[in-house]
Amino acid sequence: MGRTWIAGALAVLVGMVVIPPATAGEQLLLPDLRQAPPGCPGGYLGDPGQCRDWDVCMVADAAAPNGECVRSGSIGAVRLRFTTAEDNIGDGPLLLFGHRDPNSSTMYVKQGFQSGRHGPIPGSYAEARQQTQNSMYYEPAPMHQHWHLMGFERMQLRTPRGGTVVTDRKNGFCLGDRYGVGDAYKLPNAVRDSSTPEYRLSTYLQENMCAPKDPSVTEVKVGISVGSGDDYQYDVDFQWLDITRVPSGTYDLVNTVNSNRTLHETDYGNNSSSMAISIQWPGRAANPPAVITAPPVVSLLRSCPGQEHCATKAGMRPRVSSDQIEHTPRHQRHH
Ligand SMILES: [Zn+2]
Repeated sequence: MGRTWIAGALAVLVGMVVIPPATAGEQLLLPDLRQAPPGCPGGYLGDPGQCRDWDVCMVADAAAPNGECVRSGSIGAVRLRFTTAEDNIGDGPLLLFGHRDPNSSTMYVKQGFQSGRHGPIPGSYAEARQQTQNSMYYEPAPMHQHWHLMGFERMQLRTPRGGTVVTDRKNGFCLGDRYGVGDAYKLPNAVRDSSTPEYRLSTYLQENMCAPKDPSVTEVKVGISVGSGDDYQYDVDFQWLDITRVPSGTYDLVNTVNSNRTLHETDYGNNSSSMAISIQWPGRAANPPAVITAPPVVSLLRSCPGQEHCATKAGMRPRVSSDQIEHTPRHQRHH
């Protein structure tokens, strides 16, 4: 009789628990985010020479998230623009659910995990297990008009000793499976079999646009499958660092995914990549002029995948400079 009562009480308690406790022997599959060096669309494939998606852009309006590059006239700001890319090379999908109270404009974000290989995947915020420090909000700018995840990646310009010179404007992202990573064949849990839960999730994430034109939703699902990556082109809003007042010199351009480590991963050692650059203002000037009429030349000295320190005294020479890079116009993707 006592035992029956306890069982009944447990059943009631379990019914109240929102997050199911891990059952014995259950294996939660963690993602592993890998940061590509700046400028690598479709991720880093082993050749820094292919990472040429960056440039120097002078804009008239320093407040514009994505101003048109100009060559003359009143220069409001000089921007170092670059593409950023993050792969998931882990054991399970990166899966995040945003959820908000209807009275709040900000969503809390929880991380969900696949339970074992080809096992079940949480389908909602209520089923997700891990609270994160990330948030989501609706971005009404014309280029976006969808829900953005905050705090996913950071960009900084640093001195060779590691001092921060410039930090990115806080930027938001809409995560999805945007490309296949080059070494996905090495990943045992990369999505392959169409009969699996992770394949169905990947189908969703390939099309994910984060509730476009729907500020009324209270829940949004985003993520990156194992063997996929997500990239943000250099010509998208806020894909730049403001170098208007940065003196001539050598710097590290550092890109870090999940910099506050609020997302659970198997490995945080590959979350930063960097490139050493030199900035040189015209006329060999040590500092930018009071009135800017021409951009500085930015040269790539070295690319350092998987490292946040790149600039050293030895062995650095200009490999490609901003005045040599020519971009071919192409269709823009925005997320
Ligand atoms: Zn967006």
